[in-house]
Amino acid sequence: MSGAPYSADVIVVGAGLSGLCAALSAHEAGKSVIIIERANIEERGGNTRFSNGAMRAVYSGVEDIAALVGEIGEAERNRADFGDYTREQYFDDLARVTQYRTHPQMADLLVDRSRETMLWLRSQGVRFLPLYEWQFKLPDGRIKFSGGSAVECYGAGEGISAALFAACERKNIPVHYQTRVMSLIADAQGVHGVSAHQNSADVTYTGDAIILACGGFEANAEMRTRYLGPSWDLARVRGSRFNTGDGLRMALDIGAMPYGHWSGCHASSWDFNAPEVNELAYGTVFKRDDYLAGIVLNADGERFFDEGADIRSLTYAKLGRAILAQPSQIAWQIFDAKGSAQLHGEYRVRQSARFQAATLEELLGKLDGINRSKALATVAAYNNAIQSDVVYDPGRKDGRGTRGLTVPKSNWALAIDEGPFEAYAVTCGITFTFGGLRINSSGQVLDADSREIPGLFAAGEMVGGLFYFNYPGGAGLMSAAVFGRVAGQGAAA
Ligand SMILES: Cc1cc2nc3c(=O)[nH]c(=O)nc-3n(C[C@H](O)[C@H](O)[C@H](O)COP(=O)(O)OP(=O)(O)OC[C@H]3O[C@@H](n4cnc5c(N)ncnc54)[C@H](O)[C@@H]3O)c2cc1C
Repeated sequence: MSGAPYSADVIVVGAGLSGLCAALSAHEAGKSVIIIERANIEERGGNTRFSNGAMRAVYSGVEDIAALVGEIGEAERNRADFGDYTREQYFDDLARVTQYRTHPQMADLLVDRSRETMLWLRSQGVRFLPLYEWQFKLPDGRIKFSGGSAVECYGAGEGISAALFAACERKNIPVHYQTRVMSLIADAQGVHGVSAHQNSADVTYTGDAIILACGGFEANAEMRTRYLGPSWDLARVRGSRFNTGDGLRMALDIGAMPYGHWSGCHASSWDFNAPEVNELAYGTVFKRDDYLAGIVLNADGERFFDEGADIRSLTYAKLGRAILAQPSQIAWQIFDAKGSAQLHGEYRVRQSARFQAATLEELLGKLDGINRSKALATVAAYNNAIQSDVVYDPGRKDGRGTRGLTVPKSNWALAIDEGPFEAYAVTCGITFTFGGLRINSSGQVLDADSREIPGLFAAGEMVGGLFYFNYPGGAGLMSAAVFGRVAGQGAAA
């Protein structure tokens, strides 16, 4: 059965942050726009809605933060040292964590347009708050911003999604829900539309420009295994069940160039009790990112990751891959009383795979499958290797590491020696995939011969070339917004 054909100047596929920014930008440029979304209205919002809402943008001092959050009162100014995050720092962080593979011009675009895009998001109704979590804690109780993600969206992912859907409604930009785009309508002249399934009907959409903003392949076990490698079918999905690589597949089918780290992804430490694919009702309760406060052991009773290599936002996105490589894809975060006191609220939820005991021996006895004698020896060796002459300081990278261990802990090393003890069973949670399409500086997709494909644009997770191996926290939403706007403006032009 075929439904009526739809038509607009610009057709946007996917209603996450990149799609909504693309649609609003094309509309700002005077174009008619239709957004097509696979989910129903209740489940709309993609990974964006699941996110924590942290955003990484360039800023210079407290006044730049105040311009985003509205106002920062005297008490707050006294409580925090907001510092700066220069374009050079942003670029350096991105280059360093991606092992100097990030595409320099794309990185420049992300960095240079980050601040203006944050102000634009605010003008669209998104509200921001200073992000006090995950910053350095000074001895006098003040907070020192560690650089990078200095603000979060009010209401986290839910908040940014709701604000932008409301902006689309105000502008009468239609969103067609429960419509899954299946293929591109293309010929030698370029792309002219898309074919989709809407309920049980086949529908077509035609437009001068098509913007693919429909996510990576993180929720597709077959594609994960094909591109990321063995065992990735066993990863738990942290976000939307709808990002199954449709957009990437249909673009490759018409000759688009695959680009970036196709065997790489963002994956972090995720509670072992989490479901195979996350649900909106859970949100981020399975996040287990406080590994800095303890150590992480595998089933062989060994450490396998430098828990204190750097601040959390520069290491957490590669921990998932390290856990997936361990026997049975399981690890345990181990904390003593000092570490437990630092854990965030999500560790305390009912669903948590938590174990507690008065002694370490008793705790290890509760962890099914762990080599207990080896684990005890690992904790003892770790405790003995700590450079205890260096002062522990959560207000900076303190250099209080271990000496002589094959796997060091480079900062914030505290002995695991004070009961009660806690363990949290974790596995790999995949967030989004890094492989994508090659775009030019207007968001237009290139073909395998590096020629622009007339009428085809891409944004968000679908863009390849920015992230490799790892990722600086807060850059996912920022790149979705920046490249969403770029694509919307490019498509309108
Ligand atoms: C748990 C979690 C926490 C996160 N926290 C942060 C954070 O704090 N800061 C940060 O920067 N990043 C964070 N991220 C990453 C961030 O959410 C993503 O990088 C960003 O939201 C991607 O936006 P997008 O528009 O590309 O994709 P999405 O928001 O996923 O949107 C893609 C949309 O396309 C739709 N779609 C898919 N296939 C089709 C099809 N065939 N037809 C029609 N529609 C389709 C999907 O339903 C979806 O709505 C987090 C992600 C998760 C999962």
